[in-house]
Amino acid sequence: MTHTTISPQTKSPIALTDSHGRTVNYLRVSVTDRCNLRCMYCWSADGMKFIPHENIISYEEIARLVDLSVDMGVSKVRLTGGEPFARRNFLDLVKMLLSRHPDLDLRLTTNATMMNGKAKELAALGVRHINISLDTFDRNKFQNITGRDMLRNVTRSIDDCLAHGLKVKINTVALKGINDDELPVFVNFAKSNPVDVRFIEFMPMGSCSAWNESNFWSADDILKEASKLVVLTKLEKGERRSGPAKLFGIEGGKGRLGLITPMSNHFCSSCNRLRITANGMLRTCLFSDSEIDLRTMLRKPSITDTDIANVMREANVNKPLGVELLNAKKQNEVALKRMNAIGG
Ligand code: SAM
Repeated sequence: MTHTTISPQTKSPIALTDSHGRTVNYLRVSVTDRCNLRCMYCWSADGMKFIPHENIISYEEIARLVDLSVDMGVSKVRLTGGEPFARRNFLDLVKMLLSRHPDLDLRLTTNATMMNGKAKELAALGVRHINISLDTFDRNKFQNITGRDMLRNVTRSIDDCLAHGLKVKINTVALKGINDDELPVFVNFAKSNPVDVRFIEFMPMGSCSAWNESNFWSADDILKEASKLVVLTKLEKGERRSGPAKLFGIEGGKGRLGLITPMSNHFCSSCNRLRITANGMLRTCLFSDSEIDLRTMLRKPSITDTDIANVMREANVNKPLGVELLNAKKQNEVALKRMNAIGG
């Protein structure tokens, strides 16, 4: 296959700016829709249909999209899934991207159950940041939420990442009646370890998750309860936010507490990201099911890099304000595709 490649000399970055004045510098790529866990809020009760293998974009195709995105001003890429470590030779992709773009801020989001001591290699390849999803520190509850008895794998991976100097963020889906009783455990974990523990409000994604409104645990509530347990401190101006997370220090603690509020306090006006799904579709907004088929373009020899870049740029111009979609539709009709395919 031949492609017109934009060489570094002729690069003329045209920023990915949209009609709301937002500029994209962050790309999230779902490397697979497969996952080894069966999380109650993510997994369909009647089984999950997976994307056929031939429709999953290859590592080379991902690298080509990353090359184009970097040319258009993207400086941060997150590899997610599904479970990225569930895809064969996942570290080959990490290596490929960092060897092409040594300055790229390449981050991972993982459930950390399949990392098996890979933190050392990740650090050596140049990965500095890793987000680890963990909703409970209770072994039985972990099994109930995820369908797998793998809590120990996760805690071991967290230790391993910290031992190799990776910056760790723990992402916890806030689930009232399920993990709200563990707030003291999470707060204490953030106090005793140099990690950010970030509670994420549950989002109505997909149609089959075992969740209902009574499980919604708002960030305001979490903050109020956490303040009774520790003294939360205001951080320096530049540190108060990390992406969509609002962060607090913990007096006498090593880590920080964060809240991500897609539902109670959306952050659409500052959204700086695009998503590539595991089957090579471009999604400009998490709450919109509208997708642009990049995979077909990637596989057509006559389509050049410039063609693909133009399509990405044009799609981004029309990037919606997700909150308007949420308000306009009934919540359970929004974003019918589940997180594993979009890339959570
Ligand atoms: N397997 C990887 C992991 O576990 O981090 C990456 C994919 S997973 C879909 C990414 C994150 O999305 C996880 O933290 C998961 O808990 C979260 N998530 C999934 N469905 C969600 C929902 N409906 N609302 C909020 N967070 C959700």
